[in-house]
Amino acid sequence: MTKKKKYQVDDKGMYGRFGGAYIPEMLYPNIENLKAKYIGIIESDKFQTEYKNLLKDYVGRPSPLYFSKRLSDKYNTNIFLKREDLNHTGAHKINNTVGQILIAREMGKERIIAETGAGQHGVATATACALMGLKCVVYMGETDMERQAPNVARMKMLGAEVIPARSGNKTLKDATNEALRDWICNPEDTFYLIGSVVGPHPYPDIVARLQAVISEEIKQQMQEKRGKDHPDCVIACVGGGSNAAGSFYHFLEDERVKLVAVEAAGLGTDSGETAATIAMGDEGIIHGSKTYLMQDDDGQITEPYSISAGLDYPGIGPMHANLKDTGRGTFLSVTDQEALDAALELTQLEGIIPALESAHALAALKKLTFKPEENVVITISGRGDKDMETYRQHFGF
Ligand SMILES: *Cc1c(COP(=O)(O)O)cnc(C)c1O
Repeated sequence: MTKKKKYQVDDKGMYGRFGGAYIPEMLYPNIENLKAKYIGIIESDKFQTEYKNLLKDYVGRPSPLYFSKRLSDKYNTNIFLKREDLNHTGAHKINNTVGQILIAREMGKERIIAETGAGQHGVATATACALMGLKCVVYMGETDMERQAPNVARMKMLGAEVIPARSGNKTLKDATNEALRDWICNPEDTFYLIGSVVGPHPYPDIVARLQAVISEEIKQQMQEKRGKDHPDCVIACVGGGSNAAGSFYHFLEDERVKLVAVEAAGLGTDSGETAATIAMGDEGIIHGSKTYLMQDDDGQITEPYSISAGLDYPGIGPMHANLKDTGRGTFLSVTDQEALDAALELTQLEGIIPALESAHALAALKKLTFKPEENVVITISGRGDKDMETYRQHFGF
């Protein structure tokens, strides 16, 4: 008998009291079909062989676990950086899109739909679709399309159709509604590709399993470098929570490993301009899942704010809501300014320009204390190329 996993999804799609599938009845057949098939597909030899090959030769995995000597000296502990920034397309998101494309193809789907806020998930999806020769439709709020024009151009160059969402605030929430409507209308040939550990069950579990390659590698790499297969602490930033879920996955049940998730506080958790869902949110339903989210007194979802577009999400995946509730995870929030300072620090100590999202994880070093002999892994979820304009403005280069 295998030991019960306390922090994984149960067979009802719940993480403790979070998760589930709160969806319109018309989506039941799509979700039921996916639920019935996904584990069998992911665990099949065919999928595993193809997925591992693509991760190796297309994405460029394993990503290095780099011992950051100068950062370690500064904080008087042992700091390792998990280099997801070195992946093809510059972040961890490709681990998920390549995996879901293989699931879609196995299910006989020919058309992929996705929604995107900042455009990063749209680009990762369009990339995987180009790779597999599948039709790609990305919904994006019209306001976001204007703010993120380079990513719109990338998606188009990759052959995707980008459809502007013109309702509401014309941002991510509206794009999600349009994508769901499309899926309801096209249940036969269309696969809905979600970009983080969010949405109705089984999506949070699918994305967590695909991103779990991050912690699988960390285990092996710690064994090689330190002679034991776990660090003392893993730190990752959280928007929806996929790079964190992947970094934590194989350590969830191993209580020797402290798990630290870092949210974006924006201008400050109490400023009204924040994306710190765990700090400021309460329980509700967003995107088909019961979790924490930020809402006003009338239960309307509030528009989040962070300097980093990838953390700018009003909810958080149900796995993380449960990690918070059970006390298994430690949740911190980091302001725009603290993230900017941390990005500059890493750049000048190690010659690595991180994504603004990842800089939030780095900034946690100032809020935690470690012993000199401890091993700390920080996931660098992406590279900073996309954020150069923001860095230039803030630092005046
Ligand atoms: C999208 C993104 C994130 C946030 O998404 P998660 O699902 O929380 O991982 C973090 N870092 C980078 C570089 C991203 O592109």
